[in-house]
Amino acid sequence: MDEARLESELQEVGRQLAAALPSAARHPLKAVDDQAMDLASSDQELKAALFRFVDVVPACRNLDDLARHLIGFLGEMDTPPPPVAAAMKMGGSRAGRTALGAAAAAGVRHMAHRFIVGESPRAAMGDLRGLWKDGVAATGDLLGEATVTQDEARHYATRCAEALETLVEATAGWPERPRLQEDSSGPLPRANLSVKVSALTPLLRAGAPERGQRDAAGRLRELLRAARDLGAHLHIDMESLDSRDAVTELILDLLAEDEFRDGPSAGLVLQAYLRDSPDMADLVIGWAVDGPGAARAQPLTVRLVKGAYWDHELVEARQHGWSVPVFEVKADCDLNFETLTRRLLDARGPVRLAVGSHNLRSVAHAVAYNRVSGGEDSDVELQVLRGLGDPLQEALAASGFRVRAYCPVGDLVAGMAYLVRRLLENTSNDSFLLAQSQGASLDELLARPAA
Ligand SMILES: Cc1cc2nc3c(=O)[nH]c(=O)nc-3n(C[C@H](O)[C@H](O)[C@H](O)COP(=O)(O)OP(=O)(O)OC[C@H]3O[C@@H](n4cnc5c(N)ncnc54)[C@H](O)[C@@H]3O)c2cc1C
Repeated sequence: MDEARLESELQEVGRQLAAALPSAARHPLKAVDDQAMDLASSDQELKAALFRFVDVVPACRNLDDLARHLIGFLGEMDTPPPPVAAAMKMGGSRAGRTALGAAAAAGVRHMAHRFIVGESPRAAMGDLRGLWKDGVAATGDLLGEATVTQDEARHYATRCAEALETLVEATAGWPERPRLQEDSSGPLPRANLSVKVSALTPLLRAGAPERGQRDAAGRLRELLRAARDLGAHLHIDMESLDSRDAVTELILDLLAEDEFRDGPSAGLVLQAYLRDSPDMADLVIGWAVDGPGAARAQPLTVRLVKGAYWDHELVEARQHGWSVPVFEVKADCDLNFETLTRRLLDARGPVRLAVGSHNLRSVAHAVAYNRVSGGEDSDVELQVLRGLGDPLQEALAASGFRVRAYCPVGDLVAGMAYLVRRLLENTSNDSFLLAQSQGASLDELLARPAA
């Protein structure tokens, strides 16, 4: 690989995308949210208070209750910033508390809507159709409570099967968008659903993963059948490391079964923050290129992400005195992401790469490497999270790339845990989005990761 040529292509792509980012002026509401996020990320005490507040919102009985909790949490701050001090003054009277409660509820609802497309798949279809018309495909994700009983697992599986039907039925009438419908390996389903194995079984435990694997297998097989029969894509998300091997093995074993030789289109997730992710990449690529997956009619889609459970993995390992499974230096994680991007693109054909990142450098690297190594732009999919990646999504679609938004569906209560996770991610010190929103220069944002 000609590294100089690659780096120069990367810089060009990165600069073009940066120029295509929408200006804050066109998104006044988003600018308000960003200010709120800035405030939360710059004040650790406020951040902690807000996280505690967001956690109890679903349990609040009425607006007065909501305001009392908000004031209680904020009251624990030693030095509240001026807007918070003003809000607390309002909390002194019942009328003030009601007004404050209404404002807090509206704020949480507004924030949640930024990350969640609708309360049900049917309710989400309007937003998803709007995205499609703007040149953005989607993958749905059904939010839910943690699965602790067999009934809940069955209920989640039923909801997923219904969501597949709703998606297929609704997307059939959407206008043609050739860029979103095919790549050089063939057609891409319009309907795309992401599912979590931990929600398909209550038995997925670190100590005995095989039990959970066996229990989830039946429900996942049913969903694969439904996706195959309906012509939809089924993607299996990846969660924390304690279930990673069981989940990966389960997906690859099921997809290798004879009945899935011709479909459905399906995929899994590779997490680049894990130190052993190159071994995982070998396993997955080997399976797709000259292993059992080679007999399948559809390529295996691999969504490459850095990983959403970084703090969890770090704390868990330290608590048990284990060696830390994730990179601890951000640049090492970013460089590994680039290495894995290259390996997955080199396996194009049997493997379809979907890059799940909001980091302009990581995204531009994937586009540039794909081009320099002889791929078509249509052969790499760029994925963003609804709410976090909206500006990048707009820039990617406007620049002619294939982009897909990961769109959670669920009610406000189910959305809380999701919202907190996303807020934490967005306000962590090493986050690209935080650096970008704090005005880091384009040179800094596009620089080769260095420790
Ligand atoms: C469409 C889509 C689907 C996703 N699906 C999944 C999924 O199934 N499973 C999953 O786990 N995640 C998933 N994610 C979340 C994804 O892992 C995070 O959005 C991502 O890590 C943020 O990375 P970034 O490249 O956007 O941002 P960046 O700011 O470049 O990277 C932030 C990430 O770097 C890592 N990191 C942070 N600090 C350090 C450090 N000190 N040392 C080393 N590494 C560090 C963490 O992984 C952190 O999330 C998905 C994301 C998208 C866009």
